[in-house]
Amino acid sequence: MFDAIAQKIQDQHLQLHGIQVTIRRLDQIHPQISGNKFFKLKYNFLEAKQQGYRKLLTFGGAYSNHIAATAFVADQFGFQSVGIIRGEELKHKPLNPTLATASQLGMQVHFVSREEYRLKQSPDYLAQLQQQFPEHYIIPEGGTNQLAILGCTEILKPDDQQFDLICCAVGTGGTIAGLIQASQSHQHVLGFSALKGLFLNDEVARLTSKCNWKIIDDYCCGGYAKTTPELMQFIQRFETQYSIPLEQIYTAKMMFGLEHMIQTGIISPEQKLLVIHTGGLQGRLNP
Ligand SMILES: *Cc1c(COP(=O)(O)O)cnc(C)c1O
Repeated sequence: MFDAIAQKIQDQHLQLHGIQVTIRRLDQIHPQISGNKFFKLKYNFLEAKQQGYRKLLTFGGAYSNHIAATAFVADQFGFQSVGIIRGEELKHKPLNPTLATASQLGMQVHFVSREEYRLKQSPDYLAQLQQQFPEHYIIPEGGTNQLAILGCTEILKPDDQQFDLICCAVGTGGTIAGLIQASQSHQHVLGFSALKGLFLNDEVARLTSKCNWKIIDDYCCGGYAKTTPELMQFIQRFETQYSIPLEQIYTAKMMFGLEHMIQTGIISPEQKLLVIHTGGLQGRLNP
């Protein structure tokens, strides 16, 4: 399944303010498992299967692309899945579209308080969850672990050596870590953070062994899931101009930043750019 889907991924070429840009359209993989989450899940599922698991458990917010993708892949693989969802108060509300679809795909949606959710990386808490769900293979929030990074190295192909600069959106840092690992030393990898703060630089430095990369938060619009009227207008303009859909959490912030950096000459016209469209369109708001 993974290889068949990966073969369908296409590149689109466009001129962005005079610069030739190649966009790798991971968003076109599949409506439910759009984008980088496909690559992040690949080796986690293969590992779970190899270890004999038939069930898995993971974490996410109520609109999480990772939850949407996990529910879909679990269903395809004949796995049962549990999603630990942040926000106990949501228990009493109708499921939003992300969770409704996940639940239709057979994911058991399990709401926890924000306090409990914060423990998601604590070894004690994970041990307790493992006791509660003894037959489940646990995948961390956002799907980021070494197997996810390995999967993300496959976003790049041998031909990509021709590019000077590779750009992507950054959340937990797993995707960019894979791109960095797969990049060549003459290339640079630039990450546009969806979150405020440069702590991700430390995180990614821990996950990789190279230093040909940088993460900036200049275009995060105030923080995770925050938007500005300017960003929403940008989405509308970009989609009209290039017929490429963006969503407000990750990809729009990256394209907005990239365009700005090209316009202001921070990125020079001689550079050959590869931009990873990481998908996430299931969580798109209408601008
Ligand atoms: C999750 C996600 C990201 C961030 O990926 P990380 O590996 O967590 O950095 C970027 N773009 C989209 C659309 C996503 O869903």
